[in-house]
Amino acid sequence: MPAGTADILRETMSGQLHATPPLRHHADPYPHRSPHVAPGGASPELSVVLPCYNEEQVIRRTHARVSEVCRGTGLTYEIVLVNDGSSDSTWAILQDLACEDPAVVAVNLSRNHGHQLALSAGLWSCRGNRILIMDADLQDPPELLPDMLTVMDSGADVVYAQRRSRPGDAPVKRALCAIYYRMLKMVSDRPIPLDTGDFRLISRRVCDLIVSMPERQRYIRGMVSWVGFRQEPILYDRDARAAGETKYPFRKLLALAINGVISSSVKPLAFAAVLGATALVLALLLTAYALISWIANGATPQGWTSLMVVVVFMGGVQLLMLGIIGEYIGRLFEQSRGRPAFMIDRIVRRDRTDGA
Ligand code: UDP
Ligand code: MG
Repeated sequence: MPAGTADILRETMSGQLHATPPLRHHADPYPHRSPHVAPGGASPELSVVLPCYNEEQVIRRTHARVSEVCRGTGLTYEIVLVNDGSSDSTWAILQDLACEDPAVVAVNLSRNHGHQLALSAGLWSCRGNRILIMDADLQDPPELLPDMLTVMDSGADVVYAQRRSRPGDAPVKRALCAIYYRMLKMVSDRPIPLDTGDFRLISRRVCDLIVSMPERQRYIRGMVSWVGFRQEPILYDRDARAAGETKYPFRKLLALAINGVISSSVKPLAFAAVLGATALVLALLLTAYALISWIANGATPQGWTSLMVVVVFMGGVQLLMLGIIGEYIGRLFEQSRGRPAFMIDRIVRRDRTDGA
């Protein structure tokens, strides 16, 4: 190809995707590397992975700021921008960015898959030696990268950014998040750090392990904690969104929260047993009370109200427990269908070999 042309490599991935690796176990521990790397092409030292859903207002600004920080590190880098089925002009902008900047890899998913799966697609597509995961709305300051790299140089495999404060979020959301993270820490099998989102720097081996995990319900921060190795925090203040609105309405946030608990632990199932045992003890006490008052007074206590309370309470508890068990069964069903976790329409990047 003549030098200087801005040819775009368009790789339509849908055909291959049904064999998309994240859903299968391979004997090769690193089977998923570089789906789009040219033969002989070297891997960059750093990848930045950003899932983008309807981020047309902010994505150019994010790209500029991330690029500046990456250039400042002196490392070779790529910026993987995953379009998660946006309905605005995000994908058109990502393609333009890929045209203008050889460091950009634009990945288009076949439809909206949700943040965690878009992130998974980005991790699958990237090929850097170290991978920075961050949101596309500049709530996570990319300027933290040099400090994260320094901590990783000292031997950490994961450097996660822990929120010292989050002035960008409403007080109610802040309070609910604080309670949630503490509850999650209590129930999860592996401790998940408090007040920590997905903003983190991970090593290639951690990325490969995450990508090779076959689960469909992907709670990335839980998966990263589960992997182990040395994981170090770095404190920061979470900014407000640079532009646009949150893509996490309460419904999606709740789904993420439930998914976080269910995919990190089976303790909610044990909770059913504890509640059942407590109800049994209460029932025995009530029986004893009824018997004693019958022997002492010759009559059982009257009480339509208390009867109703107990019946409704027990009904509620049973339905709640059925719901919890149902959540696990639903996940088993999803997993047993074996469908790909995400589907990529195409990956677009400027051909690095053509003198760009
Ligand atoms: N996002 C996504 N798919 C979705 C929802 C969100 O890829 O279905 C991306 C979004 O573009 C952003 C990140 O996930 O980069 C976090 O979303 P957002 O900032 O809206 O969440 P919040 O910070 O308000 O919790
Ligand atoms: Mg945000």
